[in-house]
Amino acid sequence: MSKFYEVRKRDGAARIGKLSRDGVNYARTPLMLRVESLSGKGSEEEIKVISAEDTKFEDLFSEETWSTPRGTLLLPEVHPLFTKMEEAIPSLFVDFFALSFASNMLNSPGDFVRRIIDARNSIPPDVALWVPAIATAENAALLFYLGVDVIDDTNAVIKGYRGIYQVEEGEVRLNDLDDLPCNCSVCSSSSIDELRGENNKDRALLIARHNMLLLDKEVKKAKERIRAGNFREYVEMKVRTSTFSTAVLRILNLDADAYFELRTPVARNQCMEANTMESLKRIEVKRFANRVLERYEPPARKILLILPCSARKPYSTSPSHAKFIEAIADYRGYIHELILTSPLGVVPRELEVVYPAAFYDIPVTGYWDAEEREWVSSCLRAYLERNLRKYELIVAHLSGAYKEICSSVVGDLCIELIFTCENNEKATSKEALNRLKERIAELYGERKRQSGFEMKASMIKAMADYQFGIGAGSELVARKEDERIKITGKFPYYKLSLDGGVLARIVPSYGLLALTMKGARRIVDYLSSYKVEIGDFVPEGSILAPGVVNAGEQIRVNDEVVFAGAKAFGVGRAKMSGWEMVVSRKGVAVQVREVKGI
Ligand SMILES: [Zn+2]
Repeated sequence: MSKFYEVRKRDGAARIGKLSRDGVNYARTPLMLRVESLSGKGSEEEIKVISAEDTKFEDLFSEETWSTPRGTLLLPEVHPLFTKMEEAIPSLFVDFFALSFASNMLNSPGDFVRRIIDARNSIPPDVALWVPAIATAENAALLFYLGVDVIDDTNAVIKGYRGIYQVEEGEVRLNDLDDLPCNCSVCSSSSIDELRGENNKDRALLIARHNMLLLDKEVKKAKERIRAGNFREYVEMKVRTSTFSTAVLRILNLDADAYFELRTPVARNQCMEANTMESLKRIEVKRFANRVLERYEPPARKILLILPCSARKPYSTSPSHAKFIEAIADYRGYIHELILTSPLGVVPRELEVVYPAAFYDIPVTGYWDAEEREWVSSCLRAYLERNLRKYELIVAHLSGAYKEICSSVVGDLCIELIFTCENNEKATSKEALNRLKERIAELYGERKRQSGFEMKASMIKAMADYQFGIGAGSELVARKEDERIKITGKFPYYKLSLDGGVLARIVPSYGLLALTMKGARRIVDYLSSYKVEIGDFVPEGSILAPGVVNAGEQIRVNDEVVFAGAKAFGVGRAKMSGWEMVVSRKGVAVQVREVKGI
């Protein structure tokens, strides 16, 4: 619990926070503390620290200790053997925790991951975590990615005093450089020969200053990426510069799904660039694949048509998909379309607008490596095992690696399947498109086009199921008795209305379905996992964490939620995870869109 620290923005476990002192905004995290200030020699503006060693342990739990006006911040440590934090928390008001013995983490990538995750899990989400004395420009992004909020320049300064010149990728000895590869104020005002010619003390101070400026720049870069919502891409790029950091990210991909699942936004207005093999292991990718299996029901159609993905998203807006859709237009009423793609696996047509299906990009070479093939194959295999019996027939309009993947999966499952592309033939070629059309016409002679309403309704239904769980979609779009359900708007800006009142609309910029109050009331029985119980008040503006009594555990940042209390009911968008809403004392929990007093 915190009085002076507030998390303002989250991207995975990384956060941007605000630290205030005496009612004034003091600093933002990620934050780099300066060594001079830690030693108490800094200016009045610098932060001052009293170590927990100066305070008796039992005093840490007295309200009085924490409510005294402070120009200083008290920093209890997260000791590796201290496991009773949860019992202690209710009486503790703290803004920061410092992770003790942090330098031990550098002995192994596994320790690095475990120590930080254990620390983050044992302290409340709305306090900052400081990992002292180990940050470098090379590892700072990884520290923030793991959930560290505060670092310091101790390492940068000590290395400088030892003549070690740090660079973004690591470090070099000054003697091994030919030139200074940097434009900071130190490096741009002296040549390497001038720097070498300085006396020992001045040279040490100058290199230390360069190291500090470099780290400061790295903190600013990381902060921008967290703010933009594409920090993971930056971390995937940064870890490449050291085997240690690369190992840390790989261990996270293997062992830390639960940790990141709780912290990763469900949608963003930002493209997800899958440039590395680590991208296949992102939570967003795993979550999408799981939801296609657990929160998606294909519409009742006779034919499953498997298509390749396109560079342009949503796929329907691409030239290749325009050709596929034109080829099958007369028979589309029989067909359910499934798009095969990396790294998402399989994307049902109805979900092509959701995040991240409409928001990812991959480097396209035509070559798929073994791990990528294995992952996409496993997604297709799981989809077919689950849904196979719902179709009479499977048609695959695929060529190249897509066809190879599909062939191997259907071979494993002993399924009959019709391929409509010859080997080495492009799926968009005239011959292949004609063959697709003719094969389907042969199989189902009578034309059956898909109605506009049917197409739009299946998309809204699938999106509601994807967001709230199976059942929510049918309840939302199904016509009951003499209801007048209408869907208006151009793809993908669909708006669902009932008797003239809007129930829900697709928000393509986030890949979400947004509910109105009327829509939320209609499916309220299906929203129990996305419900925020609030106190006895009518929210004006956003709902802050202290106003939350309880919240669904499934709720993630940017989820659509309903909130209800003794005096109000409404809809909005979650700005923190459900578990964070419950335990936090500060910060916006729900951005309110519509509210009604009871
Ligand atoms: Zn420099």
